[in-house]
Amino acid sequence: MEILLVPNELLRQKANRLINITSEDIKIANQMMETMIKAPGVGLAANQVGILKQIITINFEDKENDKRANYILFNPSIIEYSEEKVIMEEGCLSLPEQYANIERPKKIILQYIDENQKNIKKEIDGYEARILQHEIDHLSGILFVDYLSSLKRNIIIKKVKKLKNL
Ligand SMILES: [Zn+2]
Repeated sequence: MEILLVPNELLRQKANRLINITSEDIKIANQMMETMIKAPGVGLAANQVGILKQIITINFEDKENDKRANYILFNPSIIEYSEEKVIMEEGCLSLPEQYANIERPKKIILQYIDENQKNIKKEIDGYEARILQHEIDHLSGILFVDYLSSLKRNIIIKKVKKLKNL
C-alpha cells in the first residue's frame, strides 16, 4: 500500500463506519499493518492509504514503561477524555520529517471492535493514548497540524510539498 501525503484530499475526508466486518476489511487491516511496520510507524489510519473506512492499526513499543502492543481496531471511538492534559511531540507518516508539540488529554476510554468481531472497551493512558487520539483524528479528516496556528501549519505543509518534489 502507498501512504498518501498532504495535501491529498482523502486525508481530509471522513472515513465510514463499518456495518459489519468482512474478510475484505480484515485483509485491508493486515495490509495496513504491514505497510505501517515497513514505514516504520506506530499507527496508521485507513485514510492514509486512500481507503475511507474506519480501520486503524497500532504497533508501538514504550520502553520506559515496558509496554508494547500490536493490534487492529475497527470503528474506534473515544467515549471519555481525562481532564488532565499532556504535551507530547507528534509526527505523522503523511507529513514525513515534520514534528510538533501537541497538547491532548492524558487518558482516554476507548471503544472498538477487534479482528475477532469482539467489542472492546478500555482505559488507555500515556503514549498509547496519544497514538490512538492521533489516529482516530485521521478518520475524521483531522491532522495533528490542525492543532497548530495556521502559520505553523502552512509552513509544515509547504515543507512536505517540497519534500515530494525532490
Ligand atoms: Zn498520522
